[in-house]
Amino acid sequence: MIYLEQNIDLYNNDIRVMLQAFFDNEKVVLTKEGTRITLQVLFTYDTDVEVPVMQRGGYVTFTLKDVNGYEASKTCVIDFMNKSLAKNPIKGSLYEMLSAYTGKELPWGSLTGVRPTKIATECLEKGRSEDEIRKLYTSVYLTTEQKADICIEVAKKEQKLFAGFDYENEYCIYVGIPFCPTRCLYCSFTSYPIAAYEHGDIGAVDDQGAEKANQKKEKVRQQGYSVDDYIDALCHEIEAVAGSKVYSNKRPVAIYIGGGTPSALNAGQLRTVIEKLKSAFDMRYIREFCVECGRPDSITEEKLSVLKELGVERISINPQTMSDETLKLIGRAHTVAQTKEAFKVARNAGFSNINMDMIVGLPGEDIEDVRHTLSEIEKLAPDSLTVHSLAIKRAANLNIEMEKYHSLIKGSTNEMLMAVDECARRLNLEPYYLYRQKNIPGKLENIGYAKAGKECFYNVLIMEEKMDILAMGAGASSKFIFRNSPDTSAKFKTTDNVRIERVENVKNVDQYIERIDEMIERKERMFALISE
Ligand code: SF4
Repeated sequence: MIYLEQNIDLYNNDIRVMLQAFFDNEKVVLTKEGTRITLQVLFTYDTDVEVPVMQRGGYVTFTLKDVNGYEASKTCVIDFMNKSLAKNPIKGSLYEMLSAYTGKELPWGSLTGVRPTKIATECLEKGRSEDEIRKLYTSVYLTTEQKADICIEVAKKEQKLFAGFDYENEYCIYVGIPFCPTRCLYCSFTSYPIAAYEHGDIGAVDDQGAEKANQKKEKVRQQGYSVDDYIDALCHEIEAVAGSKVYSNKRPVAIYIGGGTPSALNAGQLRTVIEKLKSAFDMRYIREFCVECGRPDSITEEKLSVLKELGVERISINPQTMSDETLKLIGRAHTVAQTKEAFKVARNAGFSNINMDMIVGLPGEDIEDVRHTLSEIEKLAPDSLTVHSLAIKRAANLNIEMEKYHSLIKGSTNEMLMAVDECARRLNLEPYYLYRQKNIPGKLENIGYAKAGKECFYNVLIMEEKMDILAMGAGASSKFIFRNSPDTSAKFKTTDNVRIERVENVKNVDQYIERIDEMIERKERMFALISE
């Protein structure tokens, strides 16, 4: 445990994130007991005059001590008047001190944010040269040249991808299917093992009369809701949301069906959901239609042919690893052979845009396992490859049962990501989106690579937060962008003149089914606000 002591409560989050990046997510506490490292942070002002903190200049002194008697200090000058600019020297000094203590250099240097490419994007928009941007990353944020270069590459790609978008008059559609064959060890998504909901359709209650309604209630009491009940509720939500007047003049440009594993549904259920979407929304402007088929054991020829027939262009078949041993350990209940077979079946069904997801840093895996996975992926030659650095999220079984897996987790390394990068380049895949997550040991990144023209722009849009997303299904989160409408209330995410508001659906499937009208009303309230 790391004991953090500050005389003023400033930059707490940045300081904690930096500590965790160096000490692999070790707990940062505010009590001395049981700690092996102490970091004292002393803010001093260069004036005695009583003025508000944020109107002063001053210093920050970091003092690092450990239980073995190590002690080092570092001081930096900061301008408290500009809170965001002051961050750079604070983080830079702390980085240098922790780097000297641990002997580690972090590829992302002092950058702790989730979207490191944003700096490159903003610089490009201001007309700064690539050399200037590279220098900014490496000398101010202390990143490696490779990270600087990939940020510039991604930022340039995004600029190109979004050149033709009309953010104000276009929107994306997301549909969540919260079922999977089993639950993966690291999963923190809304996902339920589908078998628990597969006990036959008992039909919609409305239009069946009192007797049937009572029968249904009795059956639900005995068995719980079924997948078909979920599909009924979902279709009801799709129809209601698509009927909104607010969106009648806007154009839906992308559909993403995710979850969960949508292909865990049977072919008939997939058809029902997609046909409902196609009849409810104006499909003329759809430029991208993606369905997650993440679990290879959920894929069949019949389902793929339904997807193909209904216009789905991009699917994702996710090996995560090409080791049967790891697959068993992480609870995916499919084999490497099934992944290869599913990919072959999808190609034969005519899919020419297939993504594969893989994870680096899985329990028990080292660089050699990653190289093996990459060599198998390379043989299949997907059209895009998305690599995630293992994140240990609070709700995941991996975190809950950490004691059991702790010794197996070696974490993702930059060497693994470099191996992925080399493989992706050999397949002619270029990086087009990149983000980091809080809970990745070592604070490494997730990157999407794709062949030119095979990028999934929905993936980028959810990161960039430039376009509305109408999201339906359990756990789905809709996002609404209010332009020229700042709001300083903490409830909203506000930058410059743009306000972003979210409308969340409940995650629990049973609750979603029972409270479907409330889910619709939540969005209707937002639609009313937009119309004002
Ligand atoms: S396939 Fe994805 S959504 Fe399903 S359990 Fe695994 S991580 Fe969760």
